[in-house]
Amino acid sequence: MKEDAGKFLAEERQVALITGASRGIGRAVAIRLAKDGCDVVLNYAGRREAAEEVAEICSYAGAEVLLVQGDVSDPEACEDMVRQCLDRFGRLDILVNNAGINRDAILMRMSEEDFRKVIDVDLMGVFFMMKAAARTMVRSRYGRIINISSVSGLMGNAGQANYSAAKAGVVGLTKAYAREVATRGITVNAVAPGMIHTEMTEEMPAQAVEAVLQGVPAGRMGEPEDIAGAVSFLAGRETGYVTGHVLCVDGGMCM
Ligand code: NAD
Repeated sequence: MKEDAGKFLAEERQVALITGASRGIGRAVAIRLAKDGCDVVLNYAGRREAAEEVAEICSYAGAEVLLVQGDVSDPEACEDMVRQCLDRFGRLDILVNNAGINRDAILMRMSEEDFRKVIDVDLMGVFFMMKAAARTMVRSRYGRIINISSVSGLMGNAGQANYSAAKAGVVGLTKAYAREVATRGITVNAVAPGMIHTEMTEEMPAQAVEAVLQGVPAGRMGEPEDIAGAVSFLAGRETGYVTGHVLCVDGGMCM
């Protein structure tokens, strides 16, 4: 009984680092984790003003906030982000690798540069951030890593050879690292969003959106908050026995 009571004592505040937190899914995840009671480190690539707005909302929710500029495809920048997080908070409990880009074209017309660019940000970026966070998480024998993949990485998507390859790579990377650190109190999971209302999907022609929605049993696009809810679940202390999992949040698209 006494041991059980410990579970209900107030817990220390956790620190979450979210990449690409200035807009879209990253923004919703940051706000959700702040509402959940975490302090947050918000990475942004270029849009300082948008990141400051997210910071203001997170502070309003009660979080201490640190803004860190940095490109996730640059390993030194990733090391620096984690260093700044540890200097400020002394810990890193939750890492959400959300930053991502797309450069769509059919394979025949896809340039090598566009293929590499997407791999660099969407796949290498996840590797660099997990590596940067590895030492502190292993040392504290605790961590929750959530990598944002995509249904494109599971099903393949015409016109997205680069993006599908990167997002499939994220799944393999997630599972491999989940195995490596499973005994250290660290979980590594992926969330695979379907079609979500953000700037990334805003530019799609209405006809293309309609065509995709034909394959979505829920019959609608998802909202960034739908993804944030899944990340919140995987980031929880109580989710410690879920690892190496890919959680599709896609209105049933991929079942
Ligand atoms: P978005 O374009 O609105 O946001 C992407 C974020 O990543 C931005 O904040 C951007 O500044 C940041 N970013 C881009 N390159 C970066 C870099 N090199 N370093 C640091 N930050 C960088 O897109 P979103 O829809 O919010 O996408 C978020 C994640 O969800 C991405 O990984 C994306 O691939 C994934 N995803 C989105 C959808 C969707 O339908 N929107 C579906 C599946 C997966």
